[in-house]
Parts: sequence; structure tokens; C-alpha cells
Amino acid sequence: MSAPKALAADPWGLVRSPSPGPSLAIGSPSDGCLAGAKTLAVRGPGWREVYPARHRFYGHPALIAFVHRLAAEVRARHMGTLLLGDLAQPRGGPMSSGHRSHQLGLDVDVYLHLAHHPLTVTGRARLETISMVDGGAINFQAWGRPQMRLLRLAARDPAVGRIFVNPAIKRHLCRTLTGKRAWLRKIRPWWGHRRHFHVRLICPHGDYACVSQAPIPPGDGCDATLAWWFTPAAKVPTPPVHAGPPVLPAACGRVLADRAVPAGRRSLSRR
Ligand SMILES: [Zn+2]
Repeated sequence: MSAPKALAADPWGLVRSPSPGPSLAIGSPSDGCLAGAKTLAVRGPGWREVYPARHRFYGHPALIAFVHRLAAEVRARHMGTLLLGDLAQPRGGPMSSGHRSHQLGLDVDVYLHLAHHPLTVTGRARLETISMVDGGAINFQAWGRPQMRLLRLAARDPAVGRIFVNPAIKRHLCRTLTGKRAWLRKIRPWWGHRRHFHVRLICPHGDYACVSQAPIPPGDGCDATLAWWFTPAAKVPTPPVHAGPPVLPAACGRVLADRAVPAGRRSLSRR
């Protein structure tokens, strides 16, 4: 494919800097964009990005704050270091590979495996082999109490709307959890997600153009809706084919076209 065509096909993946102005999530997770994104540092106290070269470490300030909070909780409990996958592109929007959502800067992938050593190149390759699910059942070679605790910490965060995990993980939690189970409601089964879980925040207060997902149905989700995931119907299609290309709100066109403010001159901006 020639360069100009690539530019037309993937403008969101090619833009290298956030748009200026206030941070706003615009649209829905699979049809939207992010104005005024903030950057998550490649590493910080308690977290580490696994693939910084992908340049998908931008997010709404609410998402950056969530990562900081979760990393601090994990660190305080000596559970290891959070390993992070993708957040969003500098202006959110559709990605050319890997995700249908992650468009608003309110989604982040977090590995279920926690690091206890600095992540080397070999360690990173190994990370991609650590699956918590094996043939539809939990892989107890990899899964343990730290994974449950990590999901619980994330789900209890008030900014979190949903967490997507493999159905086998949800079923395991449904079967084994005792005591307070209210947080289980936010844990939602989805295709894949054997190595990482996907956190989606609720629309931040005041983000008037952010379209909320339908509320989670009542109950803990350990019911017939979960059982469906283990029927043949759930196998086709895998994952579901989304109808057509994303349809972005008109405001996203302006976010994409907006000029970046040079780093040292942000304070002079009159926007
Ligand atoms: Zn994800």
C-alpha cells in the first residue's frame, strides 16, 4: 500500500500528538475519539508499559488517574508491578490493528500476570505465552489469588464501569468467591482476554459528548447469560464481526484536524 493511501486509511494511527485544549471523550468506545489527551509515562511507581513503541499510551485524565491509583494499590500490597497493554492513540479514534474499542481514552488493557522483575525482551516474549485459560478452563499454572485480587482492586474503583475477561475467568470467580461479591457484577465475559483484562471507565463527569454504554444488568452475572458463553452459539463468530467501519461524531473530524501545540508553548495557547 502506498504512503498516501495509508494516510487516508489510518489517519488516527498516524497522528503523533494529542490535540490542544481541554480533555474530552467524544462518542462511544467503538465510535469515538479523544480531545486533549494526556500521556501515561512508560513506567512509574508500580506500573510498566509493555509495548511503548506502539504509541498507544494516551488517555483521558480520568484513565491516567485510574492507572496511578491501581498501581499504587498493587504496590502497597506488594503484589508486583502492573504490566499495561494499550490505552489509546494520541487522539483516540479507530486503530488499524488489535482493538475495535479503546477509541475514547477510557479503556486500558492490563495483564493478569504481575511482574516481579524488570521486564526484559525475553520476559516480554514470555509474557505473551502466559495464558490464564487453557481449553476453556482456568490454567492454575498461571492463575492464582493475586489475579483475583487484582481484578477485585480494579473492579472496586468507582471510575470503572466494566472489566472484560475470558468467560472461563468469570465462571471461576462465580464458583469460588465467597463474602462480598458485589464487584463481580462489573466483571463481564468476552471473547479472548486470556492474558489480559480490559478496563473500561464510565464517562467522566462533565464529558457531555461521551456516550455511555447501557447499564450492566442487575445481579452478579453468574447466571444463564454466563452459561451462554459455554454453548456452541458463543463460538460463532469469534469474535463478533462489527457491522461496517466506525461512524465517528462530527466533532472527531475537528479533533483530528486540530494542530498540535508545540510542547514549550502550551501556556500561550488561547484556546
Ligand atoms: Zn482492550
